[in-house]
Amino acid sequence: MSEFLLKPRIRFGPDALAILNELPARNVMLVTDQAMVKFGLADRVTQILHARGIAFQVWDDVVADPNIATVVRGMKRMDSSSPDLVIALGGGSVIDAAKAVIFALAQIRPDTRREPPCFVAIPTTSGTGSEVTAFSVIKAHAEKLVLVDPLLLPDIAILDPALVASVPPAITADTGMDVLCHALEAYVSLAASDFSDALAEKVVQQVFRFLPTCWRNGGDLLAREKMHNASCMAGMAFTNVSLGITHSLAHALGGVFRVPHGRANALLMADVVAWNADYHGQCDTNAARKYARLAHLLDLPAATTRQGVASLLVAIQALKDEMGMPAGIRDTGVLVDEFEQRLAEMVGQALRDNCTPTNPRAPDAHALIEIYRRAWTGNAVQNH
Ligand SMILES: [Zn+2]
Repeated sequence: MSEFLLKPRIRFGPDALAILNELPARNVMLVTDQAMVKFGLADRVTQILHARGIAFQVWDDVVADPNIATVVRGMKRMDSSSPDLVIALGGGSVIDAAKAVIFALAQIRPDTRREPPCFVAIPTTSGTGSEVTAFSVIKAHAEKLVLVDPLLLPDIAILDPALVASVPPAITADTGMDVLCHALEAYVSLAASDFSDALAEKVVQQVFRFLPTCWRNGGDLLAREKMHNASCMAGMAFTNVSLGITHSLAHALGGVFRVPHGRANALLMADVVAWNADYHGQCDTNAARKYARLAHLLDLPAATTRQGVASLLVAIQALKDEMGMPAGIRDTGVLVDEFEQRLAEMVGQALRDNCTPTNPRAPDAHALIEIYRRAWTGNAVQNH
């Protein structure tokens, strides 16, 4: 027996933000960060509320990688104002913070007379899919606390391409590769289903087709819309079927060497695909066949499973190259001695990571060390 949960309601496309004109509200809390205020994106929301004569307050000091102190600050704000509508406007950090605040308040305030607020998530990057996932990542000292609960799901997600038009090229590349990674890992997850496969296939096609355009010309709103939708669809897939060891290895690499999440995934993705496919061995795993199917969908040579996997590896590499991304971990400024020194620690973390159990091939420490070392130089195809 399996399940595929569908929530929230999604409003997407040009002017999707206008749905804020329709939502019933008396008292709104806008959760956002300083950058959104500075660049005028918060104004786009508050102008609508102002025109409707709805009372609102802005909580704008959410920082990247929110920690428990951030959540406690938010809880105090939300508890004292009791909003009936909460709007989270920002990247994954802002949406995750709002999720955690609403969730934590519901836990400590089991007052059933007070309805939880309607929760609207408005992503301003195309990457995390946080607007449709039942996860929230909160920092607790050096550790990352991952909250997992359907209660974390927003009620409404607004995907307005105009809100991502000004994302700089480097962040567009990093977050776009994160989207690709979500789809690739959901597609071969041990929990994958017809439902997640349909989403993942569409996402992979849209990323290869539209991400380079978003990187080259951020103002191309059609390409931005396609990537914004892809990010959300990938979130719908992986919130249901989880991810794999690219994410486990990227979480550890990012934690130790401060490599941004999407870039860390981009650095590791091809070598994980090669390992999952057993590309250097028989290349006859279930994952290999699924990768070859993706190559076929991308109109790449895929007459045999091995050729299909090779085509996908070349395509991933080409996508990174096209956007001027580093080929290997060594190209990100990490020193080889330090990398080797921290390898065992990172591998230990990756083995314990929540994303590891659904990876199509169960890794041991030896396999993860090998993947990290191959990703050190990059060029997964030549590596084999
Ligand atoms: Zn990710």
